[in-house]
Amino acid sequence: MNRIYFDHNATTPVLDEVFEAMVPFLKEQWGNPSSIHWAGRGTRKAVEDARERVCSLLNCAPLELIFTSSGTEGDNHAIKGLAYAQKNKGNHIITTKVEHPAVLSTCKHLQKEGFEVTYLDVDKDGLIDLEELKKAITPKTILISVMYANNETGVLFPIKEIGQIAKEKSVAFHTDAVQAAGKIKIDVADLNVDLMTISGHKLYGPKGIGALFIKRGTRLVPIIHGGHQERNRRGGTENVAGIVAMGKAAEIAMRDMEKETEHLSVLKARLEKGMAERVPHIKVNGHPERRLPNTSNISFEFVEGESLLLNLDMKGIAASSGSACTSGSLEPSHVLVSMGLSHELSHGSVRFSLGKSNTVEEIDYLLEIMPPIVERMRSMSPLYAGAK
Ligand SMILES: *Cc1c(COP(=O)(O)O)cnc(C)c1O
Repeated sequence: MNRIYFDHNATTPVLDEVFEAMVPFLKEQWGNPSSIHWAGRGTRKAVEDARERVCSLLNCAPLELIFTSSGTEGDNHAIKGLAYAQKNKGNHIITTKVEHPAVLSTCKHLQKEGFEVTYLDVDKDGLIDLEELKKAITPKTILISVMYANNETGVLFPIKEIGQIAKEKSVAFHTDAVQAAGKIKIDVADLNVDLMTISGHKLYGPKGIGALFIKRGTRLVPIIHGGHQERNRRGGTENVAGIVAMGKAAEIAMRDMEKETEHLSVLKARLEKGMAERVPHIKVNGHPERRLPNTSNISFEFVEGESLLLNLDMKGIAASSGSACTSGSLEPSHVLVSMGLSHELSHGSVRFSLGKSNTVEEIDYLLEIMPPIVERMRSMSPLYAGAK
């Protein structure tokens, strides 16, 4: 059976080059980077080399980047760390309704501790209204957290404009760039961003490693207390192999970005055009242009997304509905519902997130098997009989 992977926003495979780079640090190079003797010196250098590579991807200085255990930890560290550091200045945080659970759950938790959180609405394209953002800022606002690219729809937020607004009001600005990093060019120096989260396994590195950009001068209360690692900002002996892998993955992402963007854009356009031609009653979700080059979120009317996924899985195709973090629950996607989609259309949505190894043949195979699957499922829907 064909095995086709269209779920790169959930996780990406580890590239061979990345794997090769990390192996020595799981075997012969096992020293603690904090040790001053021979065993530690090599690993310290490897960690700092990797830091420089990740910094190049974001265009920041090595002093402005710490390694974390994941994107989730980065989001927690940025939001809680900033909130605790500035709680004497104010207790108000602004975010959006369509953030990843790593941001939403952290904000919900802070509400229990007395912080106030405004969750901005999005329009049908999945974007926030900047005037509404401006109006939401009060003298008590200490943090704005808006994601760079949405994991479910690929919608790209106007990070530079939001950063400008935050700067004018002297409010700190965090962006969860987990889905953007490695896929599009990011330049923190140009964006007025104070905090930015990224994760290794979304850019062809391993799971369990991430990084957080902390602009020089931004004070955060540490979330993981321990030794003096990461300049006292995050305790715990460094995940050397993971860090080295992330450095390599960042280097490759930079090297291949232009080529990859072109490759993904061609595949995505073929998928969306082909699907629209072959399957009636579908809707591509999210802003038509402001989207990641790799993400297509499509609603199939009169179809249940989860069963569609099972049918695709039987044909060897891996895709997803909602996010990996919310699937398994039967709740419709909070992102699509926030964009005003009916529960039916939200339930009937499938996310195809493409990656490096995908080919035109794979897209064509999907386009070939999709119409009969959808037609068969619709033929069992009483609603569809009425609509035809
Ligand atoms: C995957 C993801 C995360 C979480 O990253 P982990 O490394 O899996 O913890 C956070 N935000 C977004 C937008 C994501 O897609």
